[in-house]
Amino acid sequence: MPLRIGLFGGTFDPPHLGHLVTAINVRHALSLDLVILMVANDPWQKTGARTVSPAADRLAMVQAAVAGVDGLEAGADEIERGGPSYTADTLKSLGIKHPGARFFTIVGDDAATNILTWERVDEVASMSTLVVVDRPGAPIDLPSEFDWRRVEVPRLEVSSTDLRCRITDGRPLDYLVSEPVVAIIRKRGLYGLRVGAQL
Ligand code: ATP
Ligand code: MG
Repeated sequence: MPLRIGLFGGTFDPPHLGHLVTAINVRHALSLDLVILMVANDPWQKTGARTVSPAADRLAMVQAAVAGVDGLEAGADEIERGGPSYTADTLKSLGIKHPGARFFTIVGDDAATNILTWERVDEVASMSTLVVVDRPGAPIDLPSEFDWRRVEVPRLEVSSTDLRCRITDGRPLDYLVSEPVVAIIRKRGLYGLRVGAQL
């Protein structure tokens, strides 16, 4: 049987409960063999607006987040390729790695609404089924150019932006970020934290 693979791309700065709950529930709902949390090398739509943590640190956090979780994997392809991260290129290289596999590009509704700004989005839509999950907040209109597959997942009001603020303010991360990820943040002194400081 050819594989059914979910591609869930992101900056993951840091990865959190919302990412994991989404990946696990989409995998279940669509009977996917695997969901790859693909770490963007250069999230070109974000760079400039704020400092993005080094790709190696974000990959280490995602690897820690998925360790021991059935059917979830951290993807390093975009980091290995270097340069700006385009999903069209990633799907092409995953297709070569997994011949015959069927791909599902998974996005939250905030990312879905911007999909027309993606590089070669027509290729993304032709190489994969577009899957959208709702995030908390007002419903968002999806670009009608595409057929969307909607999957209901628990709506969790968690974002990396809020988590970075929490770290700066010294507010707790407990249960929002898994322990192994917190350990990496602490050990590497990410987000301006003193190395080894308690969170
Ligand atoms: P930031 O606040 O820095 O933008 P983020 O929490 O949105 O971070 P990203 O790395 O930007 O995380 O998101 C990667 C993907 O995960 C996107 O498709 C986004 O919509 C989705 N996503 C992020 N948080 C959630 C959540 N709580 N529930 C569902 N999807 C989410
Ligand atoms: Mg985001």
